[in-house]
Amino acid sequence: MMKLADKVAIVTGAASGIGREIARVFASEGAKVVAADINYDGVLALSKEIESGAVAVKADVSKKDDVIRMVKEAIDRYGRVDILVNNAGIQTVRRFLDLKEDEWRKVIDVNLTGAFLCSQMVAREMVDRAVEGSIVNISSIHGYIPRIMKIHYDASKSGLIMLTKETALELAPYHIRVNCIAPGIIDTPMNQEVLAIPEKKKSMIERVPLKRIGEAMDVANAALFLVSQESSYITGAVIPVDGGLSLHP
Ligand code: NAP
Repeated sequence: MMKLADKVAIVTGAASGIGREIARVFASEGAKVVAADINYDGVLALSKEIESGAVAVKADVSKKDDVIRMVKEAIDRYGRVDILVNNAGIQTVRRFLDLKEDEWRKVIDVNLTGAFLCSQMVAREMVDRAVEGSIVNISSIHGYIPRIMKIHYDASKSGLIMLTKETALELAPYHIRVNCIAPGIIDTPMNQEVLAIPEKKKSMIERVPLKRIGEAMDVANAALFLVSQESSYITGAVIPVDGGLSLHP
């Protein structure tokens, strides 16, 4: 029996890395996938690979009109939304003293406001149709472990953790569950530059108790658990998928 048979799942940032793998794993468990990304060619290519049914949507999650259109496409095509994964995210590296307001706003807009907009639009649809759905937010271990040069990214990821807990509380009466994954270092295009430097990669691996860099599949498997029936009594949780890195950062 497939775990997500007949479920409709919206995955944002599905053209690349973790989002792409989540979309593929959900589809392999029978879900109909709405693959959304600003990179339309990327989600179009992915949707053609998925045999169980998928639709590609070009959407910038930080733009309300795009989010409304994304949800409408899901409803028009499949009639409901059971699952949302707020995965779309960006990061830049900047010293706090040099960080410009525009750069701060851009990262907060995509990573945090985007998740707020998608969660609200999707949750309203779920409530209207009495769908007992599941929402997963992709935060980061840097939502609770500070570091330098990424205050905007880390603040956005910290906000996602509280968005998770508060929406979990507000949506529980409708039997909509909301959980969060906090990945550590995962091998995706977002980390391509740094992982391409052998000494940096080696020192990163040494810091991880399980002594390896994570794969997108590691995060996708956790997401599958959180949207499946197996986690039906779990809401408001933040699950690290980090090989133990956050135990001694
Ligand atoms: P990725 O490979 O860069 O994929 C992110 C995807 O999101 C890209 O296709 C990107 O398109 C898209 N995107 C960017 N801005 C968007 C927007 N405004 N609206 C819709 N889509 C947008 O990154 P990843 O490593 O898979 O990261 C996925 C999530 O995991 C992110 O939220 C990230 O912060 C989080 N995370 C990653 C790691 C890690 O080590 N990789 C660790 C902790 C948390 P473009 O490529 O065109 O920009």
